[in-house]
Parts: sequence; structure tokens; C-alpha cells
Amino acid sequence: MRPQNLTPLFAQVTSLPGIGPRLGKLVEKLAGPLVVDLLWHLPFALVDRRHAPKVADAKAGEVATLTVTVERHLVPHSPRQPYRVWCEDESGRLCLTFFNGREDYLRKLLPPGEVRVASGKIEIYQGEVQMTHPDHVVPLDQRESILRVEPVYGLTAGITQKVAQKAISAAVGRAPDLPEWQDPAYLAQQHWPNWKSALEQAHAPADETDLLPQHPARARLAFDELLASQLAVALVRHHNRALAGRVTEGDGQLRKRALASLPFDLTSSQKAAVAEIAADLAKPERMVRLLQGDVGSGKTLVALLAMLIAVESGAQAALMAPTELLARQHFATIAPLADAAGVSFALLTGRDGQRQKKATLDGLAAGTLQLVVGTHALLQEDVEFADLALAVVDEQHRFGVHQRMALSSKSHAVDLLVMTATPIPRTLMLAAYGDLDVSKLTEKPAGRQPIDTRTIPLERIGEVVGAVGRMLATEARVYWVCPLIEESEEVDLANAEERYRLLGARFPGKVGLVHGRMKGPEREATMAAFAGGQLSILVATTVIEVGVDVPAATVMVIEHAERFGLAQLHQLRGRVGRGSAKSTCLLLYAQPLGETAKARLAIMRETEDGFRIAEEDLKLRGAGELLGTRQSGLPDMRLADLAAHAELLQAARDDARLVIDRDPDLMSPRGEALRALLYLFRRDDAVRTLRAG
Ligand code: ADP
Ligand code: MG
Repeated sequence: MRPQNLTPLFAQVTSLPGIGPRLGKLVEKLAGPLVVDLLWHLPFALVDRRHAPKVADAKAGEVATLTVTVERHLVPHSPRQPYRVWCEDESGRLCLTFFNGREDYLRKLLPPGEVRVASGKIEIYQGEVQMTHPDHVVPLDQRESILRVEPVYGLTAGITQKVAQKAISAAVGRAPDLPEWQDPAYLAQQHWPNWKSALEQAHAPADETDLLPQHPARARLAFDELLASQLAVALVRHHNRALAGRVTEGDGQLRKRALASLPFDLTSSQKAAVAEIAADLAKPERMVRLLQGDVGSGKTLVALLAMLIAVESGAQAALMAPTELLARQHFATIAPLADAAGVSFALLTGRDGQRQKKATLDGLAAGTLQLVVGTHALLQEDVEFADLALAVVDEQHRFGVHQRMALSSKSHAVDLLVMTATPIPRTLMLAAYGDLDVSKLTEKPAGRQPIDTRTIPLERIGEVVGAVGRMLATEARVYWVCPLIEESEEVDLANAEERYRLLGARFPGKVGLVHGRMKGPEREATMAAFAGGQLSILVATTVIEVGVDVPAATVMVIEHAERFGLAQLHQLRGRVGRGSAKSTCLLLYAQPLGETAKARLAIMRETEDGFRIAEEDLKLRGAGELLGTRQSGLPDMRLADLAAHAELLQAARDDARLVIDRDPDLMSPRGEALRALLYLFRRDDAVRTLRAG
């Protein structure tokens, strides 16, 4: 049960003064539906209104609060002209300017002959001191309420700064005093205020340094958020560990046969990953392990070997991919090996015919099918397993936690292996998954050559086309990725079509185009023609599937590479260099290059190590931007900045561990306080795993 004193914070935002149903919707869009969501909406800037000069001393560009007598209204003849109100003090004249000003409203706000206090940005226009749309106009007796430092909040269309300030200040006013949940020694060492003071200070910055992430109030709140998230993850894991798992062990026979059919050896990181997974499967607890590795690092093979362990033990295994194309690709990789091992297997997608689908479902339910590869079609209700022991989910960062759980709930005590091609920096991993078990594939399979990566200014695109022509003479296969112009698919598409036309004119019959708007079969036909060599150049928008496997492709051209993020460039480049032939990646950029873009391209030239690239990316941009938190299923941090607060994250992790060791059911006084923290950050899911206190 949520502590009683938190109730006011969990009311709808419409319970705040000045927030009706219409504004409520906008506030919800801005921060969230509940009062507590507004607490976490911290100001990003401030306005100091304490500067109150005489009119004659006001300087252009500064924010000033002026006390003046209203003289006269100058009502415009045409709506295109501004409405002016002339005012003065003993030092000089001030012109208040309003575009589209309503006369009745302005006459009430600024009655001639009366004294008013106006605050806003000073302009000097044709020698006159002017203020356009003052932020505040109040009578003299309210002067003190304006003469202060005002927090400035991020807004959304339809919400003004005043509305936001008022609502947030009311929300902060509702914050109760809560028992301290932080470790007292740590709190003292950090010199942090208690939660409520931290909240009040964070919303009332007095100068610029108060806005920095290291400021004690902000650091404290960030730590609270990180602690809540680490504790929640740790509690759920602690709980899952205690759930009945199963011991899955095999005799190695099937794996031996599959490996014998391979023309190559496993890399040492593949071997290590398989050993780690085998050890997990053999434990009576449930496995939740992440398998990380760049595109082409050989994750599918590791997944297959893990699945064979399940089959050796007499159970079933399933592999789920985020798209049809990827499911088919995994199936194609797995099929010859599963055949060699003598295992029965099938593919299940949304496009199967009725009869085929029925056969697959029957086989899975009866247990005669031992392995299945599929799309989210695997999650449908009519899919039942006789005895599913291992679920592998290939995320390529498109599934959420939700789907993962859905697949593992298809049977009892299912072990879970999550594969991702996105090398997630350690800090982010920790924030997202806590101490999740991770296997990393850090090496490329033997025989791969480094990719020759070059950066070339766009003006030299003619030379690039010439070079591509020479490469085509040697049977090379070329990806040509068109720029991401804006968020509009239409414009991106128009660009790709233009490039397709130009290249098609130069290399008739050899160029294909794929983009996100194409129907599946059409796109697959083009991909197949490229894979099969009938097409030599594949022009694509950025929506082409992650993980597409055409080992014969050796050239990747990326136009306007400066517009892509590092992770994206790395993913795109990963589509070449997959065979034994030498590959090239040409990054075409528009000049002049900004600092960040320059740094990104330099890193691309320097390394192919996805983990290193991910770390650099985290340094270059904020963590939120890095993966598109929503998409990746990473938690949406509102107070913590994983780049700035990396140390706090470690501390929160250690603290959460300690709590779980000492007081796993949160029964101590500190545990009690921590429950409130979990509720504050909406981690009710974690509280529910606790034994009722
Ligand atoms: P990922 O799933 O990580 O993108 P895949 O498992 O699809 O990578 O492997 C990419 C290609 O590399 C496949 O054609 C696969 O057969 C091959 N491969 C996998 N492991 C090795 C290895 N140890 N040595 C050589 N080739 C390998
Ligand atoms: Mg793969």
C-alpha cells in the first residue's frame, strides 16, 4: 500500500490550481498525468528579475523590472501595427509594445495615470527604451512578487511559462516531509540536503551554478532516481531468483554434431558465451542473460548452441526476432546446423499459410518440434509449447521488456537469453538492467578483414561514383545509404529516389532501391536480387533492416554522414565486412563540419569496436539521446544524466545491493522509507514483489 502522505502527489494534475481539463492534457504531455510528475520537471534556466533600474539606465538586451506611470495608449490603425502604451518614470520614457494586443484587455492592465511594474527584456528602438510583450505587469503593491529569480521550465505548445511555474510550484508545495531513505553516512559525506529541501532548492535556482547537475540539490534528486531504479531492478531479480527455475543440462551430443558441420571454429568469445549460458542453464535458478555483440559477431550461432542444450535435455527452445526478414535470416543460419544435429525445427511468422501454421502449432504443442524461430507471431495465444525451456529474444533494440516476458511466460520456468546488436555502454547497461548477467562477443570471426573507412567531402561525390564504377567491374556489391534530411519520410524518400535515378542512369540495370514505404514482398524481392548478385548497388533510406546479411557486399557509401549518430553509422557500416573480402566504407560529409560531427567521423575512422564506439557516443551526447530511450526499453531518467552522474549510478548500484543483502523485504526503518522512494518513482512493480509487511 502506498503511504498515505504520498496521496496528494498521486492526484491528477487537474487538481492543481489553474489547471483545467484543457491545460491538464497539455501538462500531461509536458511532464505526465500526475502531480508527482511535475516535481521531476526541473528548470533548465533562470531569469533574474531583481535588476530594477530607472528607465534611462536600462540597457538593451537585459532583463529589467521597471516601475513606471502609464501615460497614454496608442491604438494602431491597422492590425499589422503594434499596440503601444507609453509610460514614464522621472528619468525617461518607456514604450510597452504589443502585437495583436486587445484594447479592452490592455486598458484594464495598464490604466492611464496609474503606476505599474513591468518586467521583461529591454530593447532600444529608434532611441526609445522599449519592452515588447512584458513577461509581467502588476500593480505597485505586487512589486515584491516579481523582484526575484524566476525558474524557467521547458514548455510545450499551449503552456506559458507562468502556467508552468504556477502548477509546478503548487506541486512542490504538496511535497510532504518524508523519512530519510538514504544511508545517513553517505548523505553526510555528500553534504546533500534532505529530499524535500532538495526539491525546493532545485526548483528555486538563485544563480547559474544551481542549474548544474553537480549542484547538491540536483545531485541528491538524481541519486534518488538512480537508487529507486537500481533497487527496483535488484528487487525484481531477487524475487525472480527465488522463483522456481529448472536445471537444464545436455550431454553435448547435438552441439557436437552441429559444430562438426561448421567449416570454422568458434571464436573464443563465442566459446566463453556458450559456456556461461550452459552454466546458467544448469543452475536451478532462472537465467536472464544478455548476449551483446556487433552485427556479424556470430550471436545467432551462440543462440543456436544454447537452444541445442535445451533440446539435449529433452525440452524445446524458441528464438524470436523483431522482423520477418530477420526471423527468416536466423532461420536460414540455423537450418543447416539443426539439420546436421538431427533436430526438428520450424519457422513461424504472421505470413504462414493456414495449413503450415497448424502443423507448426501442433508440433510445438505435442513437443515433436524441438526448435522454433519466429516473429512476434510466437506470442499469439494459440501458440503453446509442450515444454519450452529456453526463450531467445533477438532485440536489435526493438522489443520492450514486455514482449520478452510474454515469451518466457509461455511455459514454466523458462530461461531467457536476450540478444542485442547494440553495444550498450556499461553505464547505460547498469541503469537499464542493474547487475544483469552479460555475455559479450568482442571479437570478429576469423578471416574478417578490417573495413577501410574514409571520410570524403560531398563535393567529391563525382569521384566516389567513379570509384564505385571501378569496384563494380570487380563484381563488388555496394550499399548506398541516403541522407536523413529531416523527420519526414517523404523527403527522405524523394532523396533516395533521386539518387536511385542518377545512379541507375550511370549503371543501367544494376541499381535497386529499398525504403520503408515498400511492401514486404517487394522489398524482399529487391533485397534478394541484391544478395543474389543481379543488382550491384542497393540505394536505401536509413530504414533498411538492421542485421541484413549479404556477405558479398563490400562497399558502404553513406551520404551526409555528419547527420547520423555514431551508433547508427556503426550499425550501417556493420553491413559490410562480413565476408572474407576487403571492405570499404565511404562517409560523405557536407562542409563545414561541426565539432561533434568531426569527432564522430574521426572515431569511425579510428575504430570498429562497437563497445568503444558506444562509450564515445555516450560522451558526445547525452544518454537519453543515445538509444532513443522509449524504443530501447531503457528507463526514462528524468533527473539523472547518465553522462554527468555516472559515479552516482555506481554508488546507487552498490547501495541497492547492500539493501538487498541486509533487508531484502524492506522491513527495517530504512526499508520502510525506501518503499516510499519506490512509490515516488512509480516502481510499484518492485514493491509488489515484497512480502506483505
Ligand atoms: P550476428 O547474429 O551476431 O549478427 P551471425 O550469427 O548472423 O551474427 O553471424 C554472421 C556470419 O558469421 C554468419 O554467416 C555466420 O555463419 C558467420 N560466423 C559465425 N561465427 C563464426 C565463426 N566463429 N567463424 C567464422 N564465421 C562465423
Ligand atoms: Mg544475426
